[in-house]
Amino acid sequence: MKNLSEAKFATRSIHAGQEPAPGNHAIMTPIYQTSTFVQSSPGEYVEGYDYSRSANPTRTALEKNIASLEGGDRGISFSSGCAATSTVINTLRPGDRVVSADDVYGGTYRLFENVFRPMGIHFDFVDLCDLDALSAAINSDTKVIWIESPTNPLLKVIDIEAVSDIARKNGIKTVVDNTFASPYLQNPLSLGADLVLHSTTKYIGGQSDVIGGVVVTSDAEWADRIAYLQNAIGSVPAPMDCFLLLRSTKTLAVRMEKHCENALYLAEWLSGQPGIASVTYPGLKTHPQYDVACKQMKAGGGIITIEVDGGLEASRTFLESVSLFSLAESLGGVESLIEHPAIMTHA
Ligand code: PLP
Repeated sequence: MKNLSEAKFATRSIHAGQEPAPGNHAIMTPIYQTSTFVQSSPGEYVEGYDYSRSANPTRTALEKNIASLEGGDRGISFSSGCAATSTVINTLRPGDRVVSADDVYGGTYRLFENVFRPMGIHFDFVDLCDLDALSAAINSDTKVIWIESPTNPLLKVIDIEAVSDIARKNGIKTVVDNTFASPYLQNPLSLGADLVLHSTTKYIGGQSDVIGGVVVTSDAEWADRIAYLQNAIGSVPAPMDCFLLLRSTKTLAVRMEKHCENALYLAEWLSGQPGIASVTYPGLKTHPQYDVACKQMKAGGGIITIEVDGGLEASRTFLESVSLFSLAESLGGVESLIEHPAIMTHA
């Protein structure tokens, strides 16, 4: 077992969860493309594996790897970011309430409002940059505060430490969807959050070729319940996808450095251009929560939100005119993408 106790992020991203393969010492974790595992005696599993919905060695390596990157005890992976979100909310009971950031990914809002609200779980959408509004929204049924930071698509930066502090004093758990920051730029567990979630489809995957999700937590009881539901509900990632994600985390640090450098350059350049009504980027001093971003993020990230003069028609023309950027949903890949949330991801 490698000793990574003193290792920094880029080193952990390459080594954590990964040992030379049993038998032949292949350096890359094999793709254990198998549905089941042979038992030595009924109910006796060799090395803990019986059936790939329950656990798979390629998935175990990925989960350990990302848990290490987020500084948590347990990683639990899913077939998509939405599956991760669903499984976390599935740990709640009818009558429970969630205070959610008012600006979240459209698919998260859809799950909250159209899937879980009819099942009796209530969601209060609040601007979590306003801590008084957060305190006012909490009541005795509130079980979870759901942060996304930076938010999708308005790039609000929520003070994770301050929100987690309020949550803890009220006996409430804090979840942070860290997709827009990546584990390289921000580690919510170290800021007091109880659970961190990623759409691994984005920065963690980084090559626009995988859909996936993961949660990381050091809350043993919650981790056990989520792992139970991971198996019971069964929205698990395939071994091949786990392999692709393991390949990707190895370069996360260098990719994020480049994303941030490029985005800051572009955000500064766009700020001076005619026809651009506003530029929002957490790494710009003009960002309303620039101080919070400096406190909790290593850099501003790879996403910029702009408003163009002339409304929807001008936006459409702008989006149809780009050449190097591709008009497509998603983010965090090596290509540059551009999209209009109200028409596309948040429609
Ligand atoms: N969370 C955020 C912030 C996202 O942007 C997305 C997708 O865009 C998701 C969660 C959902 O992830 P997936 O598309 O992998 O289900």
